[in-house]
Formats: sequence, C-alpha cells, structure tokens
Amino acid sequence: MDFELSDSQKEIRTAVAATCARFGNDYWRSCDERNAYPDEFVKTMSEAGWLAALIPQEYGGAGLTMLEASLILEEINHSGGNAVACHAQMYTMAAILKHGSAEQKARCLPRIASGELRLQSFGVTEPDAGSETPRIKTFARRDGDSYVINGQKIFTSRYQHSDMLLLLTRTTPFDQVKKKTDGMSLFLVDIKESGSALKAVPIATMVNHGTNQLFIDNLVLPRAALVGEEGKGFSYLLSSLNAERILVASESIGDGRWFVEFATQYANQRRVFDRPIGMNQGVQFPIAKAHVSVQAADLMRFNAAARFDAGVSCGGEANMAKYLASEAAWEAGEAAMTTLGGYGFTKEYHVERKWREARLYRTAPIANNLVLSFVAEHLLGLPRSY
Ligand SMILES: Cc1cc2nc3c(=O)[nH]c(=O)nc-3n(C[C@H](O)[C@H](O)[C@H](O)COP(=O)(O)OP(=O)(O)OC[C@H]3O[C@@H](n4cnc5c(N)ncnc54)[C@H](O)[C@@H]3O)c2cc1C
Repeated sequence: MDFELSDSQKEIRTAVAATCARFGNDYWRSCDERNAYPDEFVKTMSEAGWLAALIPQEYGGAGLTMLEASLILEEINHSGGNAVACHAQMYTMAAILKHGSAEQKARCLPRIASGELRLQSFGVTEPDAGSETPRIKTFARRDGDSYVINGQKIFTSRYQHSDMLLLLTRTTPFDQVKKKTDGMSLFLVDIKESGSALKAVPIATMVNHGTNQLFIDNLVLPRAALVGEEGKGFSYLLSSLNAERILVASESIGDGRWFVEFATQYANQRRVFDRPIGMNQGVQFPIAKAHVSVQAADLMRFNAAARFDAGVSCGGEANMAKYLASEAAWEAGEAAMTTLGGYGFTKEYHVERKWREARLYRTAPIANNLVLSFVAEHLLGLPRSY
C-alpha cells in the first residue's frame, strides 16, 4: 500500500499553496471582521480552475480525482484560509454527475467550470427535522409539467453568493412511504429565475459563513429541474454526502496543520522563564499529540478518497475520516490556543478565528454524535440508537 502522493499530486499541492499565499492570514481576518464573502479569492481560484476540479474535462473542468480535490481544499485551510466559501461546488458535483440529466450537465457544467456560474448552495437542513433528514417537510407538488415547492430550510449557506441551489424536498409525505428515506427528490434551482418565491434571511453566527434561513413560497420549477428520478433524491444525496465528508475532513486536516505549525513556531520563539516555552513538556506534548492525531486522520482521508475514486463503498471511511479530522483539528486548535496564552485571544494572531472555524466541523455537515451512531449501527452491528 502506497501513501505517497504522485508527482502530479505534489504539483497540485504546491500550485494551490502558491495561489493561496497571495491571500494571507490578514486577508482572511479582514473578511471575517467584515463578515464578507472572500470574493476575490473565489474568483482567483475559479480562474485558476481549482474549483472545477471534479468537473470532467469534456465539460471544461479539470477532471481530477476526489483525492486531488481534497488536497486543494486542504491547502486552502492550511494556508490560513477557509474553504467553506467555495467547497459546495465540489461535493454537489457527485450527485449531478451521477444522476443529473445530459441536458442539466450540458447547460450548467461548462459555465460552472469557467466560473461564470456558481453552484455553492445546498438546501437540506430544516428547523423541525434537524439531523433526521427524512423528516423534512419542504414539499414539491407535481402540477402538470411543473413542480410547485413550499417549505423552509435553515442554515442554507452562501445563498447570496451562488447562482444555483441544490434543493432536497419531499415529493411523497413522510407518513406515506414504506422506507423513510423514500419519497424525497433533488432539484437544481436557478436562484435568479426564482424571483420572490425564494427569500433568504441571514443568520448571524460566530463564523463568517453567510448562512441563512430560506423561505420557499410557491416556487414553480419545470420538470427539467428535477435531478434523476422523482422520489430517489435521498439515495442521490448519499453520493454527494460521502464526497462532502471526505472534502470537509480534508479542510479539517488543513486547519490541524495550520494550528500545529503556528503553535510550533510560536513555542520556539516565545521566551518565558528565560527559555522558549516549547521546552516545557506541558506545552510541547499537546502540540505533538495534535500532530499525531492530524496525521492519523490524514491516513483515513486517503483511505476514504481512494475508495471513492475506485467506485467502491466508502460510507464508513468517509464518516470516520470526517470524525477523526474534525476532532484532530479541534485538538490542534486547543493546543494552539493554550500555546499562545493570552495572545491566542487576540485577533492579531489569527488563532481565535481558525479555532472558531475549526469548531464548526464537529457539528456540520453532520454532528459527530451522528457519525458515531452510524459507525455503531452500520459498521459494528450494534442496535440502532434512534
Ligand atoms: C454555520 C453552519 C452552516 C451550515 N450550512 C449548511 C448548508 O449549507 N446546508 C445545509 O443543509 N445545512 C447546513 N448546516 C446545518 C448542519 O448540517 C446542521 O446544523 C447539523 O447537521 C446538525 O443539525 P441540527 O443543527 O439540526 O442539530 P440537531 O439535529 O438538533 O442536534 C442537536 C445535537 O443533538 C445531537 N443529537 C441529535 N440526535 C441525536 C441522536 N440520535 N444521538 C446522539 N446525538 C444526537 C446532535 O449530535 C447535536 O449535537 C449548517 C450549520 C451551520 C452551523
């Protein structure tokens, strides 16, 4: 088994790092303070073709593998940045490529690949359903050749910075399906054409994430907006969810590396009691332990991405990678906060921002408790706990 990156994969890492270096920690701090979308960064990454990593070459994309795409997002976070601004376009791709119609692909993919169109918004979570996705109530009713959609989503991120929204609805009510994951459908929504049928209300959060409540009032969509077959949306979603877990894990690995490197450098330089604080085992062990955790999570990410790319089942590995990486990044963030003492709290040193950002991935896109429930039930055969 070979865990070494190929030369071309190493080149991707180096090239992405070089692009990200043009947007340093101060750029990201400024976006965070202004709660502003990192538009210049996203444009630069689009123009360089990195955000079209998973779009096949026949549609103008780079046609890279999941592993390669994950390296791109890892480097963004490793540089001090935050890939949330642009990651959705990668993980939504799995559902579109596998289940979208030829017309949808021909219409959208070349324009997404060129950066003309952004598919950055993904509407799954609802206030009353929470982690139990099958309980969503947003409903798409067939009306001749159209669907009329009503409902409400919550935490719909990047809506104001996206041209398209991938939307999960019910097309058969929860109490009328045999299996609770049946009867849901996925739609590719053109936000601008939706007019006043979609209303987004921003939610203030502790991270610069541009997330929203989304109210859907008689949104009329043509049948051409339906992805794949009606009622099978949840199974389509799963291909994107595995991609999402692997990509988010990679961002956490990037965060973890940033924290470990930042803390190491600081611990070597900061002198208290007439010696570098890094000489104290109480300071160096948490950093070393976090490094071990990040490296271990990286191996699971490789495993999950390799399985995804080989087209074999990877749900367990993708979930475990997301769990290990988000916990490792949090451990590394805590180690960095402790290492910096009072300076960890100052915005000038960037650690507090990365610490807030890293915390999100223990909760979203799936709460780590739910990952453990998945592992217990599906990998270990323990009784279903909910
Ligand atoms: C900044 C931000 C951005 C987001 N962006 C998006 C987005 O773009 N699109 C989108 O669709 N969603 C998005 N989300 C939503 C995110 O995926 C959910 O918040 C997450 O899945 C958890 O759902 P919930 O908040 O409803 O928590 P709940 O389901 O209410 O859970 C609350 C707590 O209870 C625990 N819990 C619940 N049930 C169980 C159980 N059976 N066993 C053990 N523990 C349990 C959970 O682990 C969690 O800790 C975003 C969230 C945030 C905070």
